[in-house]
Amino acid sequence: MQDGKLLTFVKGLSTLLETSPSETLIFSKGKKLLETLIEVDDWLPEELAKPHPEYYQQYLLYADPLDRFSIVSFVWGPNQKTPVHNHTVWGMVGQLRGQERSANYYRQADGSYKAGESFVCHPGQVATVSPDTHDIHVVANDLSDQTSISIHVYGGNIGRIERAVFDPASGAEKLFVSGYANPFVPNLWHPSNNKAQ
Ligand code: FE
Repeated sequence: MQDGKLLTFVKGLSTLLETSPSETLIFSKGKKLLETLIEVDDWLPEELAKPHPEYYQQYLLYADPLDRFSIVSFVWGPNQKTPVHNHTVWGMVGQLRGQERSANYYRQADGSYKAGESFVCHPGQVATVSPDTHDIHVVANDLSDQTSISIHVYGGNIGRIERAVFDPASGAEKLFVSGYANPFVPNLWHPSNNKAQ
């Protein structure tokens, strides 16, 4: 039986990361793999695409046992948004459904954080975050009447990493660990997850 899309992506990224690639290579080769995964929106299990009325949801799709990467479905109800936050590891954000608006934030001399220009991601597009260059941002569902979903890939087990949210005006930092909303991860070998490329 042919591998499903998510399994194909997991295999591709695992193979790529075996070579300890540079971030530049991850953002080229790894990005291509993610673009293939999100090309057609027909594979994300229904249970992992459900919005919450109050909070955006983070559903774990797969985590590498060696913590080299994790894949997370972010589901945003209308107008939901993140606080200003960091990641501490590289990340790629692939738009699967709807549209999201992102803005990077930059630390100023007085300790506050200022937003750069915001940009919109449409289905099929991939944005990145990197602790070396642009690790702090805000992401929002850009639609007021629809759910938006993006597939995030990080260079670590993002739900277990201690990171920070920032008050942009004062620069005050609060540590948090996000965890994941789902108690179970999808079975990548189940026929329902075997939509071929
Ligand atoms: Fe983020």
